[in-house]
Amino acid sequence: MLFHDLALDPRLVRSIQHLGFAKPTPIQQEAVPAAMTGKDLMVSSQTGSGKTLAYLLPMMQRLLRSRPLSKQDARALILVPTRELAHQVYAKLRLFVANTPLTSALIVGGENFNEQEKILKRQPTIIVATPGRFIDHLQHKTFFIQGLEMLILDEADRMLDLGFMPQLNEINKAADHRLRQTLMFSATLDHAEVNELAMSLLKSPHRVSVGASYQQHEDIEQRCYFADHLSHKEALLAYLLKQEQISQLIIFTATREDTDRLAKLCDSMGYPAVGLSGKLTQGQRNSVMQNFAANKYQVLVTTDVASRGLDLLQVSHVVNFDLPKHAEEYVHRIGRTGRAGAKGIAISFVGPKDWAAFCAIESFLRRPLPMHKVESLPAKFKGVDLHAPAKAVKKTKPVVKKAKAKSTNTMQKAKPAAKPNFYQAGDDGMTPVKKKIK
Ligand code: AMP
Repeated sequence: MLFHDLALDPRLVRSIQHLGFAKPTPIQQEAVPAAMTGKDLMVSSQTGSGKTLAYLLPMMQRLLRSRPLSKQDARALILVPTRELAHQVYAKLRLFVANTPLTSALIVGGENFNEQEKILKRQPTIIVATPGRFIDHLQHKTFFIQGLEMLILDEADRMLDLGFMPQLNEINKAADHRLRQTLMFSATLDHAEVNELAMSLLKSPHRVSVGASYQQHEDIEQRCYFADHLSHKEALLAYLLKQEQISQLIIFTATREDTDRLAKLCDSMGYPAVGLSGKLTQGQRNSVMQNFAANKYQVLVTTDVASRGLDLLQVSHVVNFDLPKHAEEYVHRIGRTGRAGAKGIAISFVGPKDWAAFCAIESFLRRPLPMHKVESLPAKFKGVDLHAPAKAVKKTKPVVKKAKAKSTNTMQKAKPAAKPNFYQAGDDGMTPVKKKIK
């Protein structure tokens, strides 16, 4: 498919040519024609997939080709979770707005409220905003959005992770009429709150799924190491701390108790570390996060409280000291590194207690995770066949022989003994493994 096939307004085609894009990306190929039918959309897409144009193009097309519902109200609102993303989207929008009679405004927190009020009084056609500041203006009654024709939610899952559900519902109510079209973009659609939000905001949405959350993130190198027990994991951690070029590291553990213990261990090895868990007050949590963001600590040891929503560009490594119980949580955890085009490394320790979670993660990702080993810290554990008779499982009997070390390289790829049957995964990626791969 070419952009020409989308029958876009010539002004939009010129802007695309100006950007030098030859053809639509897969997400644009699916989402643009679907949105141009006027239907509500629920789209799962990864960052970097070209999702911004996937909503800017149908939005611009509608605004250019149809009469406004209201003379003074904004016609389109794009909500994004962070100020940074808002600036990025606004910069792209301005390219498309140039040479058209449409006007645009950027409304984000941390900037002068009164100046923004003046801008809003000029009745811009399109607003890019973060939900918190937008609601502040809405409550001030500077302007209204009853005539809103397009509501776009970019990174809806992140907005929900940041606690914006009440604001999104309030915005929805302020622009609630049957002619409004709503496009919702999210890294994942397998998120209870995203579905809850979709139920209240969208009308029989068309679902588009390109670049689902299980797809490989090119900027994150994933490595797994077998470990026999807790002290083996600690030894592996100590080894990797020394070997890797770490700018900042987040370690995820299963228990609150481990967060403090591992933070002390890292500290004792010369890596300033801090623990963060649900047992701290919100004030303490904020202060831990601010200090980590300000690089006062090199290592953050945490439970899943910090697996989502963190956007820290200096996190070069993530270590899953214990694997998460829910496979999707793995994707969120490793996504704390490799952000904004930076490269990241995600390391996971796989002990007997992690094996079921490991199999579920491979099944969810629909591919095997690469096993590595540290020659000086070999593991007896090599995985178990979860479907073998109970006796064999109890003995955690290795299913295949130990991989023979051929190279002198201390960190080589190791083969997992029992391969989980990720090929058998159903559409939800969570279908229980039934057969062993031969
Ligand atoms: P996004 O996912 O919207 O942040 O886009 C990721 C990158 O892809 C941005 O640098 C876009 O400018 C670029 N991009 C978007 N659409 C296309 C396209 N059709 N062809 C080539 N690059 C694109």
